[in-house]
Amino acid sequence: MGQIINVGSIADYVGQEVTVRGWVYDRTDKGKLQFIMVRDGTGIVQCVAFRGNLPEAEFEAASKVTQESSVIVTGTVKANERVKKGIPSGYEIDLKSFQVLQMVEDYPITPKEHGVEFLMDNRHLWLRSNRQWAILRIRATIIREMRNWLDDHGYLLVDTPIITPSAGEDTTSLFEIDYHGEPAFLAQTGQLYNEANMMAFGKVYCFGPTFRAEKSKTRRHLMEFWMLEPEMAFTSLEEMMDMEQEFVSHVIQSVLEKHRKELEILERDTGKLENILPLFPRISYDEAVERLQKLAAETQDPEQKELLKIEWGSDFGSPHETALTQMFDRPVFVYHYPTQVKAFYMQPVEGRPEVCRSVDLLAPEGYGEITGGSERIHDPVLIEERVSKIGIPRENYAWYLDLRKYGSVPHAGFGLGLERTVAWICGLPHIRETIPYARLMNRKYP
Ligand code: ATP
Ligand code: MG
Repeated sequence: MGQIINVGSIADYVGQEVTVRGWVYDRTDKGKLQFIMVRDGTGIVQCVAFRGNLPEAEFEAASKVTQESSVIVTGTVKANERVKKGIPSGYEIDLKSFQVLQMVEDYPITPKEHGVEFLMDNRHLWLRSNRQWAILRIRATIIREMRNWLDDHGYLLVDTPIITPSAGEDTTSLFEIDYHGEPAFLAQTGQLYNEANMMAFGKVYCFGPTFRAEKSKTRRHLMEFWMLEPEMAFTSLEEMMDMEQEFVSHVIQSVLEKHRKELEILERDTGKLENILPLFPRISYDEAVERLQKLAAETQDPEQKELLKIEWGSDFGSPHETALTQMFDRPVFVYHYPTQVKAFYMQPVEGRPEVCRSVDLLAPEGYGEITGGSERIHDPVLIEERVSKIGIPRENYAWYLDLRKYGSVPHAGFGLGLERTVAWICGLPHIRETIPYARLMNRKYP
């Protein structure tokens, strides 16, 4: 045995004897030469078995080994520019030993094309493929960089509960659970608790699983997703937009810096991400509606015309968001939505209560809403009025109303959907591949 290494850092071991423990990704049979791609989770390396360099029985095993068999291999690391398939590319291992832990029969996912439903049924195995590897590594970096940025800018991570006694919003539906004989709900946002935490710590964020029972069968909706929610005391909508553009740009630029290889595997056009830097354009809901109405009027295609139709006062659907984002090369803020389409706690615009101090950030290339946020109502009388209007027992909200009694201050916050962000950065057409185990309308297996 040589020194056990991670394939991801193979560049440090050129000329040395090493041992890699992993799984067979692929094999090319050239008789006396076997080219075996071995992956160990950190990368993929071409291992060259030459008859004569290995004990006979081990060469026999190498020349029969099947996809996803588990192996331990030892040999000398060589730089070889022609090995393009490796991750990182440009290295191979000249084998002197090849041990099989388990020889696999009939691995269900082969290099041939499979249907998406088949792959989703085999998600527990599909995770081993290159594309999924690339996506989930980028996802992990996005999480790390979001948290790094917030931690470095004075935000404290304060967790919010997942089991809640009542709705956090009036606009989405909830999964109900049996809580020792009483109804309880899986959190659809951490926001209300975030507001209490904000009053204790100034600037906070929560990051956790979020549940929405809406019967949405779109490429942007999961039943269970991860939401990152910052909440800031003494902050206006405009200040929050300033922060959001810095924050989102940081995440994008960090992924570009750290994941060239992964983005290449995904065939992502990185040119479209490179210019994601402040400032992001800002348009009001009013202007957005005007732009859409103008576009609809100019559109020849009757089907598209129908999809783009919008009246002032209604929320945007996917076709509207897609069209709006195509007007800009960076994410665009749309602010001051109609009060009627937003949550009860959003601050009305002064002198124009039919719109509220809300802002959504729409990602380019048709990805649409990735964050939604607002200034929150801080006036105790107005918040009471709103709570009574939504018709949920006041006692469930008593603690929340306390926040407006004891040192209420203007404040703002937003929620960012992790999986939508992953889909955008990775350039994926559907949200299902952005999370290890997607929970969709018609899927909760595996
Ligand atoms: P949409 O209108 O697109 O359904 P929303 O306005 O209901 O979203 P918010 O309550 O504003 O969503 O949630 C904040 C963010 O969480 C959204 O901007 C989005 O990125 C993400 N998000 C919301 N619902 C889902 C979902 N079902 N699946 C994945 N991400 C979601
Ligand atoms: Mg929203």
